[in-house]
Amino acid sequence: MSDLRELYQELILDHSKHPRNKGEIEHANHSAEGYNPLCGDQVTVQLAVNDDNIVTDAAFDGAGCAISTASASLMTEAIKGMSVEKATLLFNAFHSLVTGKEVPPDSPDLDKLEVFAGVVEFPMRVKCASLSWHTFQAAIDGSNDSITTE
Ligand code: ZN
Repeated sequence: MSDLRELYQELILDHSKHPRNKGEIEHANHSAEGYNPLCGDQVTVQLAVNDDNIVTDAAFDGAGCAISTASASLMTEAIKGMSVEKATLLFNAFHSLVTGKEVPPDSPDLDKLEVFAGVVEFPMRVKCASLSWHTFQAAIDGSNDSITTE
């Protein structure tokens, strides 16, 4: 178990130091900003969703702690190429994981996102880990008026 924990920490450290998909994407048609006042994490999530409701591209920007940055980095990697519906199910699974609830049985595979299982022991960190996901949901739910792609 301690080896596994070390591996998890390494993955989080790697993604916080070298975040994937950080910056802006062209042709984004959904975006939202998120803020976690408990820690001061700020994140902007940009998504490109096509007519078939597939997330064709995803990126984030902002400043936050290692957990929030790694979570945003791993989230953008995970949802790229996924349907919005599946990504939303993945969010539900992830949220269950970090809040210590049972992950719904029909959820998409959490895969690397399992590394955040440990935050359940640190209630202050749950919001850091879930910030980018809530922001993703806000980007999907919101109107597209913050960004127009013509
Ligand atoms: Zn944080």
